[in-house]
Amino acid sequence: MDHRYICTHFGDDYHRFHGAVVPPIYENSLFVYEDFTRFVEAMKDEQNHYIYWRGTNPTVEIAEKKIAALEQGERCKLFSSGMAAISSAVLAFVRSGDHIVSVGNIYGPAIKFFRYLKKFGIEHTNVLSKNIDSIEKAIRSNTTVIYLESPTTMTFKLVDLPSVASLAKTNNITTIADNTWATPLFQNPLTYGIDIVVHSVSKYLGGHSDIVGGALITSQDIMDHIFYNEYQLLGGVMPPYEAWLLIKGLRTLPIRMKNHQESAIKVAQFLHQHPAVKKVNYPALKSSPDYELGQKLLRGYSGLLSFELKINTFDNVLSTINSLKLFKIGVSWGGFESLVISPNYGYNTEQLSEAGIDPGLIRISIGLEDVNELINDLDRALSSKTAT
Ligand code: PLP
Repeated sequence: MDHRYICTHFGDDYHRFHGAVVPPIYENSLFVYEDFTRFVEAMKDEQNHYIYWRGTNPTVEIAEKKIAALEQGERCKLFSSGMAAISSAVLAFVRSGDHIVSVGNIYGPAIKFFRYLKKFGIEHTNVLSKNIDSIEKAIRSNTTVIYLESPTTMTFKLVDLPSVASLAKTNNITTIADNTWATPLFQNPLTYGIDIVVHSVSKYLGGHSDIVGGALITSQDIMDHIFYNEYQLLGGVMPPYEAWLLIKGLRTLPIRMKNHQESAIKVAQFLHQHPAVKKVNYPALKSSPDYELGQKLLRGYSGLLSFELKINTFDNVLSTINSLKLFKIGVSWGGFESLVISPNYGYNTEQLSEAGIDPGLIRISIGLEDVNELINDLDRALSSKTAT
């Protein structure tokens, strides 16, 4: 099934809803039954019946079907945020005394969550290098989860997902990969042997900066556990209105990603040759050390990248960001609007150095504006910063 068909029609099942081409928002907390016999039958298989919104909802289900199909997974459940999906996936596979390995520059709150688990006796090691030998060395007899992002946050380094998946399988470890950057259009980690894929749908899948949500995609076997435990018991589930907006966002995902990709490549090429820029972190560039791996693992490149200023002081980062007009200053990414941010706040140089992040790093999310306007904006902001 091709992506465009999935995004436009798959899972919509129009005739269940009187032919409505846009599905209704099922804003009801519970479903009533004609007789108790049917209710008892439904309770035997809650995953496939409508009982209570904290389990299933017809509007949410349409988005879940689309995302499962896009990721080539058996089941998807939608959560109230990306972090709810991440924490549920991890909690499903750890108990007191276990150990988690994460690789590279992982999204900050995910790392914080692993550290938070220390109070339940769960240990964590972050391996900064994505080298397979370093990952293998970090594995202990009590390691139950390897957590990955490819590319990694801020530095956009690719991880060899098939090799890590096979290393994990040999050691009976569950792998969880955050695929938010690539979207299911450009990478399907499950097909590389990864066990669970998570997304923040607050980014490209929603695409309009109007929702916060998460997705977890996996096999039916794993979902049988997660649905009855972490999904329903922690209760961080996606509400139907958010799912309705997500469905609307998904309709245009393929054309938006095409545009994000085309513009981001042009912006990256412009930055690569700019005299004020030391380095561009974007695997689509032939100069990237991950270019070859990207050609193997990715079908395309999204619009989030970073660059490092030659003059890597906080003052220079500050004045460069403040000089931008079209790029808006803000967290998150993957929406229609171009955004800029730096992990350098002027008072956290030590943490940046521990994470291997250059203090001159600026992250940009390329939106759907005219790419020439975006390049002009960057050129204007960088022109006064050229190192001599
Ligand atoms: N994963 C990545 C790579 C992210 O950048 C983010 C948010 O910025 C998340 C997960 C968390 O998603 P949410 O903000 O929807 O909880």
